[in-house]
Amino acid sequence: MSPVIESEEHQALRAAVAALGKRHGRDFAPEALWSEAAKLGYLGVNLPEAYGGGGGGIAELSIVLEELGAAGCPLLMMVVSPAICGTVIARFGTDAQKSEWLPALADGTRTMAFGITEPDAGSNSHRITTTARRDGADWLLTGRKVFISGVDKADATLIVGRTEDARTGSLKPCLFIVPRDTPGFDYRPIDMELRASERQFELVFDDMRLPAEALVGDENAGLLQLFAGLNPERIMTAAFAIGMARHALGRAVEYARERTVWRQPIGAHQAIAHPLAQSHIELELARLMMQKAAHLYDSGDDAAAGEAANMAKYAAGEACVKAVDQSVHTLGGNGLTREFGLASLITAARVSRIAPVSREMILNYVSHQTLGLPKSY
Ligand SMILES: Cc1cc2nc3c(=O)[nH]c(=O)nc-3n(C[C@H](O)[C@H](O)[C@H](O)COP(=O)(O)OP(=O)(O)OC[C@H]3O[C@@H](n4cnc5c(N)ncnc54)[C@H](O)[C@@H]3O)c2cc1C
Repeated sequence: MSPVIESEEHQALRAAVAALGKRHGRDFAPEALWSEAAKLGYLGVNLPEAYGGGGGGIAELSIVLEELGAAGCPLLMMVVSPAICGTVIARFGTDAQKSEWLPALADGTRTMAFGITEPDAGSNSHRITTTARRDGADWLLTGRKVFISGVDKADATLIVGRTEDARTGSLKPCLFIVPRDTPGFDYRPIDMELRASERQFELVFDDMRLPAEALVGDENAGLLQLFAGLNPERIMTAAFAIGMARHALGRAVEYARERTVWRQPIGAHQAIAHPLAQSHIELELARLMMQKAAHLYDSGDDAAAGEAANMAKYAAGEACVKAVDQSVHTLGGNGLTREFGLASLITAARVSRIAPVSREMILNYVSHQTLGLPKSY
């Protein structure tokens, strides 16, 4: 199937999710939307059929997130719960982990957060120090994480650590499923300047005891597992950014068609029309790259998907920041009112430039991996 021209199934999925999004709108109740979207099969669309999923891929899941975002009701946790955690467990989890988690992630009754970012490592995930030490059959996990989304509501968090024997040197990660009520799993909200249904948390654990079964898959396959989750995360962040930008742009275009302060609606002035047209083009281009990345990922080409997912995230993040900025500007003073709801998207759009991998880190990746330029760090 060509990633460029959307199949009839994909177009039908887009239309159905857009209709769901329209019913909920921007005053949506996240939990109600989450469970309705799950019941309709949209949240587990990428998970294996054998475990209650739709048997599709990230191509389908990204359509769902983009359309909900375009309707003004994005579900950020889709980036994490079905896309990262669902993918990692489906591809690398033990049979018990698959049976326990996949049907519940697919039907939306349980969600899982994802924690890799650390205060002293940031963009340099090779420096993470969250350490897992064996104690009999159990594991003891010690570390600190920051900016972890949705921990208070998620049933568990997939934590990226490293084993004690791999404390230094290149990262040998290991992934643990940590249920929210695990003794010693402390989380407190970070005061963000963001209006969103999910909050970000700092996590602290000191010799937190986990059973052997908490380790995802094989201790030695951690890096492979991690990358399997990070590509879907980047593709889904692109979908999140494109959806948000389409929502903002839609409102701006509607406003520019109506608002008249001279003889013609403001949309007749090219100073207003052209930047909106430019944003529309940039979003279409970003979506093409996202479709390519999803296509490569779903066809099993992890290596090629890595480059494409980075490029898609970059293109979508940049297009989103610009589209939201221009949309706010188009509304004049109304762009900054609560009633029109665009101003808060200025900070939300910036998330797609910073997370899960920043604009500069993607430019570094392309400089080194694609263009073969030397590294400065
Ligand atoms: C709303 C929100 C939700 C998030 N949710 C999650 C989550 O659920 N789970 C999770 O694990 N993390 C999450 N994060 C964390 C996010 O992934 C990090 O913020 C991101 O990876 C950047 O890390 P940092 O904030 O430490 O920035 P830093 O790494 O400190 O970077 C600061 C600046 O320096 C630049 N920089 C760093 N190194 C280089 C270099 N080599 N060359 C050029 N420039 C460089 C960066 O581009 C950036 O502009 C979330 C963040 C936000 C804002």
